[in-house]
Amino acid sequence: MFLRSLASPYCKILRLVRRPTAQKLDGEAMRSLPVGQATRGRPLVISRLAAGLILSSSIGLLAYWRRSLSRSGVAGAIIAGSTTFGLGGTTWGFSLIYFFVSSTLLSHFRAREKAETAADKFSKGSRRDFAQVMANGGVASALATSHALVSTSQARQTLHAGYIGALATANADTWATEVGVLSPHTPRLITNGQPTVPGTSGGVTLLGTGASAAGALSLGLFNWLLRPRDRLARHLPLISLISGLAGSLCDSLLGATVQAMYYCPTCQKETERLVHSCGTSTRFLRGHRHINNDVVNFLATLCGTIVAILVERSMRNRA
Ligand SMILES: [Zn+2]
Repeated sequence: MFLRSLASPYCKILRLVRRPTAQKLDGEAMRSLPVGQATRGRPLVISRLAAGLILSSSIGLLAYWRRSLSRSGVAGAIIAGSTTFGLGGTTWGFSLIYFFVSSTLLSHFRAREKAETAADKFSKGSRRDFAQVMANGGVASALATSHALVSTSQARQTLHAGYIGALATANADTWATEVGVLSPHTPRLITNGQPTVPGTSGGVTLLGTGASAAGALSLGLFNWLLRPRDRLARHLPLISLISGLAGSLCDSLLGATVQAMYYCPTCQKETERLVHSCGTSTRFLRGHRHINNDVVNFLATLCGTIVAILVERSMRNRA
C-alpha cells in the first residue's frame, strides 16, 4: 500500500509522458503553436529528461572531480538535476545551473582565508553528500514533479514561483555563508545580538545579509532575463528577493535556536560535528539532537517556497 502510494505520482508521470498530448508545453508556448504541432509534447519531455540526465551527470562528475561533491552527492545531484530539467522545464534547469555555478565560484573565492576561520565549525567537510544535496534540492525536485502533473497555467506559475523561492533561499544562504565569513566585523546572534564566532549557525553580519539579498535578487534577475516577456518573470526579481531573504532569516533563526550544536573539549570550540576535525568526539551542547544542518536547510527552503507562493498569489490578485 505504502509502496503503491509512493509509486503513483511516477505512474501518473509515465502516463503523461506516454499520452500524446500537449500538456507538457507551457501555456504560452502552446498558444503560439499551430494545433497540429501541439502533439510534440511527448518527445519534448523525453528529450528534456535525457538532456537533464546528461547535463546533471556531467556537472555532478565535474563537481566530484573538483571535490565539492561526494559519491552519494553526485547521485543526489543527478536525481535533483534531471527531475528539475525534465519535469520543470528549461528555465527551471538553467536556474539550477545558475545556482550551482555561482555558489561554486563563490566557494573558491578567497578559499584559503575561509578555511582558516570557519571550516571546523561546519558539520561536514567541503564535499556535499546525498543528504546535503537533497536538503537543498528536495523541495525543488518535488515542485518540478508536481509541475508535470498539473494542467492549468495558473497552477504552473504558482509552482514556478515556489521553485524560485526554494532556489532563492539556497542561493541567498550559500552567498551569505561564503561572503559573510569574510566580514571584518564580529557576527552577532540573530536571536539576542550577542557577539559570536564566525561560521556559527544563526550568526549574522551586515556583509552576510547583503550577500544574501544579492544572491536572492540575482537569481530572480537571471530568471527574468531568460524570459523577459513572460508575465510571471517580470515579478520574479521581487518574489526571489523577498522569499530568499525570508528563507535565510528562517535558516538563521532555526540555526540559533533548535539546531544541534556540539562542543570539542580538546580545542574548546563549538561545532556542528559529532567528531571534531581534530579527531575528538564532541559533547552535546544545545538544540535538538535530531535537527542537524540538513534538517535546518530543508525547513528554510520550504519556508522560502511558501513565502514565494504567497507573494506570487498576492501579486496576481492585485493585477
Ligand atoms: Zn577539536
